[in-house]
Amino acid sequence: MPDIWILRIGHRPQRDKRVTTHVALSSRALGASGIFVDAEDRTLEENIRSVVGRFGGNYSIETGVSWKKMLKEFDGEIIHLTMYGQRVDEALPKVSRDKDLLIVVGAEKVPPDVYQAADHNVSVGNQPHSEIAALAIFLDRLTDGNNLYSDRDGQMTVLPNERGKTVVEKHT
Ligand code: SAM
Repeated sequence: MPDIWILRIGHRPQRDKRVTTHVALSSRALGASGIFVDAEDRTLEENIRSVVGRFGGNYSIETGVSWKKMLKEFDGEIIHLTMYGQRVDEALPKVSRDKDLLIVVGAEKVPPDVYQAADHNVSVGNQPHSEIAALAIFLDRLTDGNNLYSDRDGQMTVLPNERGKTVVEKHT
Protein backbone atom coordinates (compact mmCIF):
# COMPACT_ATOMS: atom_id res chain seq x y z
CA MET A 1 0.00 0.00 0.00
CA PRO A 2 1.40 3.44 -0.88
CA ASP A 3 1.36 6.40 1.51
CA ILE A 4 -1.96 7.83 2.58
CA TRP A 5 -2.08 11.56 3.36
CA ILE A 6 -4.92 13.61 4.78
CA LEU A 7 -5.81 17.17 3.80
CA ARG A 8 -8.08 18.93 6.27
CA ILE A 9 -9.62 22.10 4.87
CA GLY A 10 -11.69 24.81 6.58
CA HIS A 11 -10.00 24.29 9.96
CA ARG A 12 -10.87 27.06 12.44
CA PRO A 13 -8.32 26.73 15.28
CA GLN A 14 -10.65 27.74 18.13
CA ARG A 15 -13.83 26.05 16.99
CA ASP A 16 -12.42 22.91 15.37
CA LYS A 17 -9.48 22.07 17.60
CA ARG A 18 -11.05 18.91 19.01
CA VAL A 19 -12.47 17.64 15.74
CA THR A 20 -9.27 18.25 13.76
CA THR A 21 -7.24 16.61 16.53
CA HIS A 22 -9.47 13.57 16.21
CA VAL A 23 -9.24 13.61 12.40
CA ALA A 24 -5.46 13.41 12.82
CA LEU A 25 -5.46 10.78 15.58
CA SER A 26 -8.00 8.57 13.85
CA SER A 27 -6.18 8.70 10.54
CA ARG A 28 -2.88 7.94 12.29
CA ALA A 29 -4.42 4.97 14.08
CA LEU A 30 -5.81 3.67 10.80
CA GLY A 31 -2.55 3.88 8.88
CA ALA A 32 -2.22 7.35 7.32
CA SER A 33 1.30 8.81 7.07
CA GLY A 34 0.40 12.37 7.95
CA ILE A 35 -1.96 15.31 7.76
CA PHE A 36 -1.90 18.73 6.13
CA VAL A 37 -4.14 21.39 7.65
CA ASP A 38 -4.96 24.63 5.85
CA ALA A 39 -4.95 27.04 8.81
CA GLU A 40 -1.79 27.46 10.86
CA ASP A 41 -2.23 25.92 14.31
CA ARG A 42 0.90 25.37 16.39
CA THR A 43 -1.02 23.94 19.35
CA LEU A 44 -2.55 21.27 17.15
CA GLU A 45 0.89 20.41 15.77
CA GLU A 46 2.33 20.08 19.30
CA ASN A 47 -0.53 17.88 20.48
CA ILE A 48 -0.25 15.46 17.57
CA ARG A 49 3.55 15.30 17.78
CA SER A 50 3.27 14.58 21.48
CA VAL A 51 1.05 11.55 20.79
CA VAL A 52 3.43 10.35 18.05
CA GLY A 53 6.35 10.80 20.48
CA ARG A 54 4.68 8.57 23.07
CA PHE A 55 2.89 6.02 20.89
CA GLY A 56 5.36 5.77 18.00
CA GLY A 57 5.20 5.64 14.23
CA ASN A 58 6.14 8.30 11.70
CA TYR A 59 2.94 10.32 11.41
CA SER A 60 3.65 13.91 10.36
CA ILE A 61 1.64 17.11 10.65
CA GLU A 62 1.98 20.39 8.79
CA THR A 63 -0.39 23.32 9.28
CA GLY A 64 -0.77 26.55 7.35
CA VAL A 65 -0.64 24.85 3.94
CA SER A 66 -2.34 26.15 0.81
CA TRP A 67 -4.98 23.54 -0.07
CA LYS A 68 -5.21 24.86 -3.63
CA LYS A 69 -1.48 24.37 -4.15
CA MET A 70 -1.61 20.91 -2.58
CA LEU A 71 -4.45 19.80 -4.80
CA LYS A 72 -2.61 21.11 -7.84
CA GLU A 73 0.78 19.64 -7.03
CA PHE A 74 -0.02 16.35 -5.28
CA ASP A 75 1.65 13.43 -7.03
CA GLY A 76 -0.95 10.68 -6.67
CA GLU A 77 -4.71 10.25 -6.50
CA ILE A 78 -7.01 12.68 -4.70
CA ILE A 79 -10.07 11.40 -2.89
CA HIS A 80 -12.60 13.85 -1.50
CA LEU A 81 -14.99 12.52 1.15
CA THR A 82 -18.41 14.10 0.76
CA MET A 83 -21.96 12.87 1.32
CA TYR A 84 -22.70 13.87 -2.29
CA GLY A 85 -20.07 11.54 -3.75
CA GLN A 86 -20.38 8.11 -5.27
CA ARG A 87 -20.96 5.13 -3.00
CA VAL A 88 -17.91 4.01 -1.07
CA ASP A 89 -18.36 0.38 -2.11
CA GLU A 90 -18.44 1.40 -5.77
CA ALA A 91 -15.52 3.84 -5.43
CA LEU A 92 -13.06 1.62 -3.56
CA PRO A 93 -12.28 -0.77 -6.43
CA LYS A 94 -11.38 2.26 -8.60
CA VAL A 95 -8.96 3.74 -6.06
CA SER A 96 -5.29 3.20 -6.92
CA ARG A 97 -3.31 0.77 -4.77
CA ASP A 98 -0.04 1.88 -6.44
CA LYS A 99 -0.05 5.66 -6.15
CA ASP A 100 0.05 7.79 -3.01
CA LEU A 101 -3.39 8.95 -1.90
CA LEU A 102 -4.51 12.34 -0.61
CA ILE A 103 -7.82 12.16 1.23
CA VAL A 104 -9.59 15.49 1.64
CA VAL A 105 -12.10 16.21 4.40
CA GLY A 106 -13.88 19.49 5.04
CA ALA A 107 -15.21 21.33 8.06
CA GLU A 108 -17.83 23.74 6.77
CA LYS A 109 -18.97 24.11 3.17
CA VAL A 110 -16.35 22.75 0.80
CA PRO A 111 -15.50 24.94 -2.24
CA PRO A 112 -16.46 23.59 -5.70
CA ASP A 113 -12.75 23.53 -6.74
CA VAL A 114 -12.24 20.56 -4.42
CA TYR A 115 -14.92 18.51 -6.19
CA GLN A 116 -13.28 19.39 -9.52
CA ALA A 117 -9.73 18.60 -8.41
CA ALA A 118 -10.63 15.22 -6.88
CA ASP A 119 -10.10 12.02 -8.85
CA HIS A 120 -12.86 10.48 -6.75
CA ASN A 121 -15.66 12.18 -4.79
CA VAL A 122 -16.68 9.48 -2.35
CA SER A 123 -19.56 9.25 0.11
CA VAL A 124 -19.68 7.14 3.23
CA GLY A 125 -23.43 6.86 3.31
CA ASN A 126 -25.68 9.60 1.93
CA GLN A 127 -26.47 11.24 5.28
CA PRO A 128 -24.55 14.16 6.75
CA HIS A 129 -22.35 13.07 9.64
CA SER A 130 -18.76 13.77 10.53
CA GLU A 131 -15.33 14.00 8.93
CA ILE A 132 -13.96 11.77 11.70
CA ALA A 133 -16.50 9.02 11.06
CA ALA A 134 -16.24 9.31 7.27
CA LEU A 135 -12.45 9.11 7.36
CA ALA A 136 -12.34 6.22 9.83
CA ILE A 137 -14.78 4.07 7.86
CA PHE A 138 -13.11 4.90 4.55
CA LEU A 139 -9.59 4.14 5.83
CA ASP A 140 -10.67 0.95 7.55
CA ARG A 141 -12.24 -0.31 4.32
CA LEU A 142 -9.33 0.86 2.17
CA THR A 143 -6.80 -0.99 4.31
CA ASP A 144 -9.02 -3.97 5.23
CA GLY A 145 -8.55 -3.10 8.91
CA ASN A 146 -4.88 -4.06 8.72
CA ASN A 147 -3.54 -1.11 10.71
CA LEU A 148 -5.72 -1.32 13.79
CA TYR A 149 -3.17 -3.29 15.81
CA SER A 150 0.01 -2.70 13.83
CA ASP A 151 3.11 -2.19 15.98
CA ARG A 152 4.30 1.46 16.07
CA ASP A 153 7.33 0.74 18.25
CA GLY A 154 6.28 3.49 20.65
CA GLN A 155 7.50 4.50 24.09
CA MET A 156 4.11 3.22 25.17
CA THR A 157 2.29 0.24 23.67
CA VAL A 158 -1.18 -0.74 24.77
CA LEU A 159 -1.75 -4.49 24.78
CA PRO A 160 -5.31 -5.54 23.97
CA ASN A 161 -7.04 -6.95 26.99
CA GLU A 162 -10.45 -8.32 27.78
CA ARG A 163 -10.40 -6.49 31.12
CA GLY A 164 -8.04 -4.02 32.73
CA LYS A 165 -5.34 -1.90 31.15
CA THR A 166 -2.01 -3.31 30.03
CA VAL A 167 0.58 -0.81 28.88
CA VAL A 168 4.18 -1.68 28.06
CA GLU A 169 6.57 1.23 28.55
CA LYS A 170 10.03 1.34 27.03
CA HIS A 171 12.76 2.55 29.33
CA THR A 172 15.57 4.29 27.50
N1 SAM B 1 -22.05 20.93 4.88
C1 SAM B 1 -20.72 20.64 4.46
C2 SAM B 1 -20.66 20.55 2.94
O1 SAM B 1 -21.65 20.81 2.29
O2 SAM B 1 -19.60 20.24 2.41
C3 SAM B 1 -20.22 19.36 5.11
C4 SAM B 1 -19.81 19.53 6.55
S1 SAM B 1 -19.41 18.02 7.38
C5 SAM B 1 -19.70 18.42 9.05
C6 SAM B 1 -17.65 18.01 7.36
C7 SAM B 1 -17.04 16.97 6.48
O3 SAM B 1 -17.43 15.68 6.89
C8 SAM B 1 -17.35 17.03 5.02
O4 SAM B 1 -16.62 18.01 4.36
C9 SAM B 1 -16.97 15.62 4.57
O5 SAM B 1 -15.58 15.53 4.31
C10 SAM B 1 -17.31 14.78 5.80
N2 SAM B 1 -18.59 14.07 5.67
C11 SAM B 1 -19.72 14.29 6.37
N3 SAM B 1 -20.69 13.42 6.02
C12 SAM B 1 -20.14 12.61 5.08
C13 SAM B 1 -20.63 11.49 4.32
N4 SAM B 1 -21.87 11.04 4.45
N5 SAM B 1 -19.77 10.90 3.45
C14 SAM B 1 -18.52 11.35 3.31
N6 SAM B 1 -18.01 12.40 3.98
C15 SAM B 1 -18.79 13.02 4.86
